[in-house]
Amino acid sequence: MQKVRVRTEQTSQIPNSKSQIRSALVLFGSPGSGKGTQSKLLAKALSIPQISTGDMLREHVRQGSVMGSAVEAKLKAGILVKDEVVNRLVEKRISQPDCARGFILDGYPRTRAQAEALCGMLAANYTSELVIHLVVDYNVIIARLTGRRQCPVCGTLYNVASKPPKVPGVCDLEGAQLIVREDDREEVIRHRLEAYEQQTRPLLDYFREEGKRLYEVDASYDPPEAVFRKVLALIQKQ
Ligand code: ADP
Repeated sequence: MQKVRVRTEQTSQIPNSKSQIRSALVLFGSPGSGKGTQSKLLAKALSIPQISTGDMLREHVRQGSVMGSAVEAKLKAGILVKDEVVNRLVEKRISQPDCARGFILDGYPRTRAQAEALCGMLAANYTSELVIHLVVDYNVIIARLTGRRQCPVCGTLYNVASKPPKVPGVCDLEGAQLIVREDDREEVIRHRLEAYEQQTRPLLDYFREEGKRLYEVDASYDPPEAVFRKVLALIQKQ
């Protein structure tokens, strides 16, 4: 596998250690742990794509594809989509040319079957995977997930506790009434967290048993940029 060069021009505050990595990065953590935010920051800094299975599935739903119609109800209910479906999506995606230098997996793998499939895919193409577990206090997770609000017009995300709009319940940019996204409803959040506890968290043992490189980063209280710096420093040490 070719090495990935860290783009330093946009990340001047990043610790200046080794500037190259050689891995597929797996961002691991519960819903609300900040995987999406960190993946986006890393993708920009490392110039490699972020692959979010949640985003890919939502895009299929938006486009009304056959797969989208098949998975829509599961997404709305916060239930995991079938392994075969996501495995196929990921396998196809990581064979694209833009993934040749590496990529960041956000929200995958989420089950034992997915982890085994991924290890098979990577063994054929990549040196190894690096798993970064974003550890977040359960109460913080609940506050983040239940406090999320979105503008139905421009899509901007707010949080009643950590990132409130200037006027409660109203988008700063559009003036529109903010909404609770379908999968942020309390019942759905419960399903998402249950799926994580029962099917995804046990993968940490699997990664350990398989001797994968697995690191924990405390992501409870630091702002996203500070968490990002910790994650990047870890990657650069490899
Ligand atoms: P979150 O991690 O906050 O639940 P995601 O955007 O990662 O949000 O996932 C949203 C939904 O998409 C999940 O509840 C599930 O229905 C589906 N999904 C995403 N990734 C996977 C996956 N790897 N396996 C099965 N279902 C998935």
